[in-house]
Amino acid sequence: MNSADNRPIAFLDLAAQQARLGPALRARIDAVLAHCRFVMGPEVTELEDRLAQWCGAAECVAVSSGTDALQIVMMAEGIGRGDAVFLPAFTYTATAEVPLVLGAVPVFVDVDPDTFQIDPEHLRARIRAVREAGVLRPRAIVGVDLFGQPAPWDALRAIAQEEALFLLADCAQSFGAELHGKPLGREATATTLSFFPSKPLGGYGDGGAILTDDPERAALYRSLRTHGEGTTRYEVLRTGMNGRLDTLQAAVLLAKLDDFARELTRRDEIATQYDKGLAHVAQVPVRVPDSRSAWAIYAILLKDSAARDALQARLKEKGVPSAIYYPLPLHWQPAYRPHHDGTPMPVSEALAGRILALPIHPELTDEDVARVIAAVCAQEG
Ligand SMILES: *Cc1c(COP(=O)(O)O)cnc(C)c1O
Repeated sequence: MNSADNRPIAFLDLAAQQARLGPALRARIDAVLAHCRFVMGPEVTELEDRLAQWCGAAECVAVSSGTDALQIVMMAEGIGRGDAVFLPAFTYTATAEVPLVLGAVPVFVDVDPDTFQIDPEHLRARIRAVREAGVLRPRAIVGVDLFGQPAPWDALRAIAQEEALFLLADCAQSFGAELHGKPLGREATATTLSFFPSKPLGGYGDGGAILTDDPERAALYRSLRTHGEGTTRYEVLRTGMNGRLDTLQAAVLLAKLDDFARELTRRDEIATQYDKGLAHVAQVPVRVPDSRSAWAIYAILLKDSAARDALQARLKEKGVPSAIYYPLPLHWQPAYRPHHDGTPMPVSEALAGRILALPIHPELTDEDVARVIAAVCAQEG
């Protein structure tokens, strides 16, 4: 192996992406520096229009982060004390954090062992149990498109309707993904996005958005985003927050959107190369039928945690980065354990020990991908 083969591979290569986007990105940033409308400048509205158009949603409200997007949507529904919000035990912490911030309780649901998405049968059982216990009022379901693949939206919509629950789509990891040939973004009453730098469409700082087809809800989200303001700036109609997206972030995202379709195609190619090269040594991602992932994360499953940890150490030696999403299911997190009723979540618990994410950003070359595959397949020792 020559020295070029040991050049470290980046888990996420924002510098290479920046170099590639180059002048387009600078021009967008310079335009903001020229007009100085750093808060709610014209780029914010332009971005909202482009994002709504991308998924065919009627409305888009750009906000300060994916977490704040979740909070604004739940505030608009009046979710708070005494309410139960059903969500997967295997997801990023923000999904569970927001109900707690608002005084509600996250009720964890286990996930499917193949797709890692929320398990609709377990969701039904959890809703039934909460109704029978009679302590919390079931209010909402949060579906999460984990790793960029769609949650079982058809089943979640049916359950939400039968149970008269609000359905929120946490698409922080899946903007750009498709289900039944259509972009995700209209699967639930409200959809939240994140533009954290590591997400498929990432900014240069925090950012997020809310998509909806309901103009009344969109108006409420806009009010909540700016301190609950009314028709004039100094009329406060409701308790809101400072949840706006910076103009500079909108400018960066607009430049990135121009190349986003190509990036998604590249991510999908890399995933296919990994599938072919790795299926004989690990469980590769099981595709949700009739969908295309945004590939926020490409995660393989090893046979147990010893095998996973050993592989991660070997990869590190070879300059191949990897990451564990997520090392703990949420119901085991110290902050959330006291709110959990003790129901075991065997699939989420097992996944946390066996999962390993490999680099999948669009700047990876075919040679990089081949090196990752070779490193994963190399025998121990
Ligand atoms: C990243 C993420 C969020 C939070 O988004 P931020 O923009 O970081 O606040 C919420 N939910 C999921 C599933 C995420 O992956």
